[in-house]
Amino acid sequence: MTASAQPTGTELLQKAASGERLNAAEIEALYHLPLPDVAAVAHGLRLQRSNPDVVTFLIDRNINYTNVCNVGCNFCAFYRTRRQADSYTHDYATISAKITELEAVGGTRILMQGGVNPELPLNYYTGLLRHIKAHHPSIRIDAFSPEEVLFMEKAFGLALDPLLDTLIEAGLDGLPGAGGEILEDDVRKKAAPARIRSADWFRILDAAQRKGLYTISTMVIGFGESYAQRTRHLLQIREQQDRAGQLYGGNGFSGFAMWTLQTEHTRLHGKAPGATAHEYLQQLAIARIALDNVPNIQASWPGQGFKVAQASLYYGANDLGSTMMEENVVSAAGGHGRHKTTVRELIRSAVDAGFTPAIRNSRFQIIEWPDVDAHLNRTEANPEAERAVGAAG
Ligand code: SF4
Repeated sequence: MTASAQPTGTELLQKAASGERLNAAEIEALYHLPLPDVAAVAHGLRLQRSNPDVVTFLIDRNINYTNVCNVGCNFCAFYRTRRQADSYTHDYATISAKITELEAVGGTRILMQGGVNPELPLNYYTGLLRHIKAHHPSIRIDAFSPEEVLFMEKAFGLALDPLLDTLIEAGLDGLPGAGGEILEDDVRKKAAPARIRSADWFRILDAAQRKGLYTISTMVIGFGESYAQRTRHLLQIREQQDRAGQLYGGNGFSGFAMWTLQTEHTRLHGKAPGATAHEYLQQLAIARIALDNVPNIQASWPGQGFKVAQASLYYGANDLGSTMMEENVVSAAGGHGRHKTTVRELIRSAVDAGFTPAIRNSRFQIIEWPDVDAHLNRTEANPEAERAVGAAG
């Protein structure tokens, strides 16, 4: 191979397997190589970059405090206008009751996001954070997508830094990176004309990282985006991760979560191609290769179902996400009819795929090694007990 020539497929896979950083053209070329070959490299890197024997997951709950939203993304079946009969905004007691249910199953964090509800004042958010910290002090609050933060900046006339300081002072622990989708504005404009643009998404998460908040990077495929656009999405995440590594003491994205577009009941239904399981696994494997500075990559059981999620553990993923307990946004637009799961089901998914399950916190630190036999009701007399029964819970 000469210095300027593109490597052959074999050379490219060897370069990727060695852990060397790939450029944009090389990442894009991976989409045209046989998936089993790309997957083998991705899995090899996953074994090097995270504990090779372990698959982690988090016990948490998604809480969507309001479904009123004025952004109106074409791919969203969750949001309502405030005049629709089934619109809602939860009061603090309702949210508290949901957290109490989470505490009862050993949960440690909530992922709390909403629509962009123009009726809510700043003290709804700060009061909510304070209420949760006062009544549920052990629960981490990862809340508000960049879209919601952008709304707060505009609605409350606060610059980003003082706004984040206000939320942190009230109890915010992390800012999830929801709304990443494809961080290319051509794609975003078509899918959701009023959606937060990629520069604002990065601006807000950069500030969150600078202030020490937890963040995660996300991606959704299936809008009809090109391989070049998917590649640029990954490269921008990698660049931000480099930046956080250099400037913020390594407080970059704790992980990377990716799923496929669901369009049922949305205006994009029949207009966006979505993505097959093959494409999902391919994208996951390429993300593992391209994101050489993001050690934790999640499998998506809500979007793909458990069988594909288990396969994901051999395509670059080292984590099964979280229990969620309720999920209202992706599931409103289809998915696999799954919007929550049990600890037992996640344990079984990891064990059956050949890994040791571990319970983590939102920063991917292991906090508990669950008793696998107890969770799966396995005994000496019947070591396979319950494995074929399903995971009611
Ligand atoms: S995806 Fe979020 S911002 Fe977009 S319409 Fe739905 S709730 Fe609103």
